[in-house]
Amino acid sequence: MGQWANASERPVVKASQGDEELRMIPRWSMVLAVLLFAGMQYVFHGVMPHYKHELLPMRLMMGYAWGTLVASYALLLGYVSRDVKRRGMSAGLWMLVCVVLPGGIGAVVYFMLRQPVLTRCPNCSTAVASTYHFCPQCQFQMAPVCGECHRSVKITDVFCTQCGHDLAVDGAPARLRVYSD
Ligand SMILES: [Zn+2]
Ligand SMILES: [Zn+2]
Repeated sequence: MGQWANASERPVVKASQGDEELRMIPRWSMVLAVLLFAGMQYVFHGVMPHYKHELLPMRLMMGYAWGTLVASYALLLGYVSRDVKRRGMSAGLWMLVCVVLPGGIGAVVYFMLRQPVLTRCPNCSTAVASTYHFCPQCQFQMAPVCGECHRSVKITDVFCTQCGHDLAVDGAPARLRVYSD
């Protein structure tokens, strides 16, 4: 069974997706967000002249709205700064795009064009995209695939949904066998 590359490692237990995404926001951007929010409150309540005191609710609302906007922009920048690295993209270029293009357009462009997350092959540490089924360097299997048509299957499937191949014939790779036994 050539397509099942051997590896004796047990599957690594990964943190839940939400936790991982939240940890993508660096400390500096959180601090920046708080500072910007506080700064906006200062601008609306300290710097702007208080001609009409009856407009206070309006000013409170504006201060809150603008503060939230700039704070979330800082968090977004922080997220992008870390996200580019795990995708092997140019950090400097994309930070510049996000800062220069107004109104968050840069961030939208970034989320449309970003590359898949890069991980390391557990067997040989080559950088591999999360969409790969096999490591390009050592044939280590990254995801369960059909032994006949090589399209991805779920580890709980008994037959391939694409070609009807009996998946039990293939045998499971060592690191996925833990699920089937
Ligand atoms: Zn490899
Ligand atoms: Zn198949």
